[in-house]
This record gives sequence, C-alpha cells and structure tokens, in this order.
Amino acid sequence: MDTERRLLDGLDPEQRAAVAAPRGPVCVLAGAGTGKTRTITHRIAYLVHRGHVAAGQVLAVTFTARAAGELRTRLRALGVTAAQARTFHAAALRQLRYFWPRVVGDEQWDLVEGKLRLVAQAANRVGMSTEAESLRDLASEIEWAKACLVAPDDYPAEAARLHRQPPGPVEQVVQVYRAYEQLKTRARLLDFDDLLLHTAAALEEHGEVAAEFRDRYRCFVVDEYQDVTPLQQRVLDAWLGNRDDLTVVGDANQTIYSFAGASPRPLLEFSRRFPSATVVRLERDYRSTPQVVSLANQVISAARDRPAGSRLKLVGQRAPGPEPRFAEFDDEPAEAAAVAARVRSLVDEGVPASEIAVLFRVNAQSEVFEQALAEAEIPYQVRGGERFFQRPEVRQAMLALRSAAVSPPPGELPEVVRTVLARVGLTEEPPSGGAARERWESLLALVELAEELAASVADATLGGYVAELDMRAEAQHPPTVEGVTLASLHAAKGLEWDAVFLVGLVEGTLPIQHADGDNAAIEEERRLLYVGVTRAREHLWLSWALARTAGGRRYRRRSRFLHGLLPDSHPAARTGQTRQRDGGPGSVGRRTPSKPRCRVCGEFLVDTPAVKLGRCVDCPSTLDEELLTRLRAWRSERARELKVPAFVV
Ligand code: ATP
Ligand code: MG
Repeated sequence: MDTERRLLDGLDPEQRAAVAAPRGPVCVLAGAGTGKTRTITHRIAYLVHRGHVAAGQVLAVTFTARAAGELRTRLRALGVTAAQARTFHAAALRQLRYFWPRVVGDEQWDLVEGKLRLVAQAANRVGMSTEAESLRDLASEIEWAKACLVAPDDYPAEAARLHRQPPGPVEQVVQVYRAYEQLKTRARLLDFDDLLLHTAAALEEHGEVAAEFRDRYRCFVVDEYQDVTPLQQRVLDAWLGNRDDLTVVGDANQTIYSFAGASPRPLLEFSRRFPSATVVRLERDYRSTPQVVSLANQVISAARDRPAGSRLKLVGQRAPGPEPRFAEFDDEPAEAAAVAARVRSLVDEGVPASEIAVLFRVNAQSEVFEQALAEAEIPYQVRGGERFFQRPEVRQAMLALRSAAVSPPPGELPEVVRTVLARVGLTEEPPSGGAARERWESLLALVELAEELAASVADATLGGYVAELDMRAEAQHPPTVEGVTLASLHAAKGLEWDAVFLVGLVEGTLPIQHADGDNAAIEEERRLLYVGVTRAREHLWLSWALARTAGGRRYRRRSRFLHGLLPDSHPAARTGQTRQRDGGPGSVGRRTPSKPRCRVCGEFLVDTPAVKLGRCVDCPSTLDEELLTRLRAWRSERARELKVPAFVV
C-alpha cells in the first residue's frame, strides 16, 4: 500500500488519472514540463506494482539516446529495473539480432559505417555531384523517404505532394536512392532505417516470430510521441498486432523532427484511432519558474497554424525565480567568455555543473563554447554524449578492459577497472587542461559505471562489466559524465537543467538559414526555441553575437524570434537592429570607450581567464596594467548598457 501511495501521491489529479487508468490505450497531451515523462514512468511502476504486467513485459521507447537514458534513470528510481526503455532503433536492433537467424538464416549482415561513402558511390554512378554538401543533402533526403515509407518509384509523386525541395533533379534523386539501396544490399549492409524496416517486416511476415514477440512484450509506452515517423509507427503497429495496450505522451508544440518525416498527427488523432482511450491533458508546469513559463508561453503563442490539441497554455506552479536574461555581444568569443564567466559564478553560488546546460542550434557552434569553458577550467561534456563510445580514449579503454577480462587483476570490481584504466591514462587527480580533463572525465565515468554495477549486482565480474559496456555501446547509452552539458536543441528534448544558456540566437542560426522563406520550416525553428526555453528550471539566459570572430564585421542580426520577447527596457530592444559599432545600444549622450586591442598583435581583447592573468590569447605577449584597466572599464560600461552582469576582467 505504501508503494502504491508513493506512486500516486506525488501526482496531480490529471496525472493520477493517467497513471491509474486501466490497461488499454492512454494518451497524455500536454505542454513541456507538465509531467508527461513522470506520468509514464509512474504508470509503468504502478502497473507493475499492481501485478497487471511484469516489468520485463514493458517496452518503453523514445527518440534520442539521452531521453531513453532519462527514462531508465527515472524508472530505476521508482524501483523498476527490468522494464526496457530504449530508442526505437536500439529496440529494433536488439530484436533483429534475436530473430535474424530465423528470418534471414545464418548470413552475416553488418551495420553501414560511413554512409556518405555509399551515397557518394551511388551519386557517382548517376553522375551527380559528390561534394560533401550535396552528399549530405542526398543522404538526408533518402533518410526522409525511408522514414516516410516512400519507395524510390513513389518518390517523385510524394515529394511533389509534400512540397519537398529535392536536392537535385527528381529523376536523378530517384536513381541515387535506388543505387544506394542496391549497393547496400549487395554488400550485405543495413542502415539505421533498415533496422526498423526489417523489424516490422519480421513481425508482419513471420507469424511465429510475431507470436513469440507479442508473448514477451505486452505493454507499450511511447514518450515524445509527437515525433513519430510513419516508419516508426509501422514498427509500433507491428509490435502491437491487434492489441491496444499502448500509452503515448507528447506535445505537438515540441515537434522538431518534421524535416525528417516526423508528424504529430498520430498523437493528435490517437483517440480517433482508439475510441476507448483515456485522454488526459496537463497544463500545470512543475519544471520552471513562472518567469520561464511566461516566456515559453510567449514564444509558442506567436506560432502560426497550431493544430487543435496543441493550444495549451502552461500554468507555472513553482515559486518565482530570477527574470530570464537577454545579452547581446560583439562577437562569439565574447559571448562564449561571458557564458563561461556566468557559469563559473553559478557554480560558485552552489549550482552543480551537471545542472547547467549550454544549448545551441548546430553542432558547429559548440567549439567556441568548449574553448571558453576549458579556459575557465569548468568541466563539460559535449552533445548529449551520443558519441561517448566513439571517443578515442573510450575505445582504447574498452580494448584494455576486454583483454584484461581474460585474466583480471585482483581486487573488487571498481578497483579492478581503475587499475586497468590507469594503464590507459586515468590519473588519481584530474588534469587541469580542457581536452585532457575531458578525456579524464570519460575514463572516470567508466569507473563510476563499475561502481554502479558493483552496487547493484552482488558478484559483478570484469567480464560482466565488459558485457554491460558492450550492451550500452550498442544501445548508445553512455554513462553520465559530470560537468556542464553542451548540446544541440534537438538532443536536449525531454531533459531539464537548473540553468540553461540558449546561445547564438541570430538570424541564419536560429532560425537556420535554409528555413528562410519556408513558413513550415520557420515554425519548426520556433518550436526548437520553445523546446530550449522550456528546458530551464530556474536560470535562463538568451544570448547572441553580432559577429562571428573577435573584432570581425558585425553583419549578423539577432533572431526574429526575439522580437516581442525582449523587455522594452532592454537596450537592444530600443535600438532595433541598427546599432553602430562601439556606439552601443542606448548610447545617446554617452559613448562607450572603444574596446582595447593587444598592443603587439592588434587583436581585440576578450574576457578569458588568460587575459585575466595578463596574457593575450592571440599572441604570446603580456598585457600591461593600463590595457587591463581600459578593458575593465570597457567591459563594465558594456555590461551596464546591456543590463547583463559585469563580467569583470
Ligand atoms: P517535456 O515536455 O519537456 O518532456 P514533461 O511533460 O515530460 O516535459 P517531466 O519531465 O515529466 O515533464 O516533468 C517536469 C518536471 O516536473 C520534473 O522535474 C518532474 O519531476 C516534475 N513534476 C512533474 N509532475 C510533478 C508533480 N505532480 N509534482 C511535483 N513535481 C512534478
Ligand atoms: Mg518528457
């Protein structure tokens, strides 16, 4: 009874209705931070606790490795360990491995590595350009077609119907698509979409495979259902057969993969498909302060063509917090240095680094922020860690662990792992430098995983640990690395942090260049900003820089989405887009001193710890006291104008 109370007590009445609904179709339609993920994890735990289903019969799926990891963490916290929580792809891969011998025989097939090479061969055959950019466009178009279940022959009609812009003459795109499929099949390779296609086909065409699968899995849950593609829906339908034990949760305002074929329609039409479904709407936002909630509502209320079912307004439940901050910078290094400085002060105020995220639109933006964080000696992890297992130090560590598993050194499991990893560079003390520190953090994460395993399995062995690592590598489920998260907005979906920095809010980046002039694409960019804003529990910072490089030409304009969000009192709001160099916003009657440059190399000085210590970052010269005083004066003047905290050098 106590467990049951624990599972229901921390929920509001609507959440409780969804959690305790009888087995069968359930749909939760709700905004960000309203507890959708919490509701499904509690529902799984509740059904298991009541004996309606065994934990091992539950299959929960979502779309990114991090979100799947989040589901697993939350389920574990509720005492449910045997339920599967995976991405669609990881779930399909696992099932396919199991059924493959029966469906295909003992032929060995491999996953495609280096997909662009294959697309290049295909494009070459057809005489299309093999420049990297065109290959990437072709590869994404093929992915889109497969995700939408569009075969090469149907491509021209479907592309026209859905107003796609094919990355070349339609007939040639069709030929490349066809050639790519042929080359792949001939080499006995499967791409990511094939995993889903083959899984669906195995269940659709092999009665005994379907029967065994459906006996094994009886309860299905989909988080972030607004991002399902027709191909994923087909897999889901194959899993279900004619059953309806399916719980879905989603928010149509957070559809951010429609460029890749995702559609909120199955979510919005769920109750039409399952008339007996329990449908629940949630509006109370438990994640964010009212200030963040209000900004989120403003961002999304400006959206056009919102489908019915997505017009929910969030109502903040938490105590008030700080106002969201807007900050404009001359250039990206200055923006990054300011973010790093603000991160440092949050950490000093007691916010754990792992509760802070810097989110951006495209991965290329990450580097300048990585550099600034490294210089400020703040540990960080990049991009959701999906690539954790591809990092050279992790590959090397896994090799060492695997060979050590044959005759392991003596000790308890974590100690053994530590001993082995010491051979590949795990020192007792963390190194101070950025990249070395990051490598060290990855190795330490492997030790922490060993500690976790030792705590949950009585006689955990190195062999068992290596098997666990292999499983995680396959499922793309990395261990957590402590530190500030640097992630793309896409990778941040479903997650939350105490402090969130949304950086690079300029035209061409958010919205992304190629969305310009395409209303649907612009709306998807707006939803990305909404996803970003709603990741913050408490501190939210939105920033942009007018030039890319230090002292570079300021040709960039702040994002159109900031229009109407900037408080009227904000200097950047008053001056619009026409700031003059060094004049600064709101600079009537007052002139900011010009930004000092290094006397030797002539580069502008930026706020970095190196400069703080009196060194130029662009050349090896030392900065004199007068220059540092001028830099301090310039910075505090700019900070005063922009109403951002003074990042005192
Ligand atoms: P998103 O759309 O971003 O995925 P979500 O709807 O899945 O958001 P959750 O992540 O489940 O939201 O919940 C947001 C936060 O609010 C979490 O920290 C969660 O623990 C908390 N929360 C959810 N419901 C409640 C509740 N009834 N009481 C207190 N806290 C809650
Ligand atoms: Mg969620």
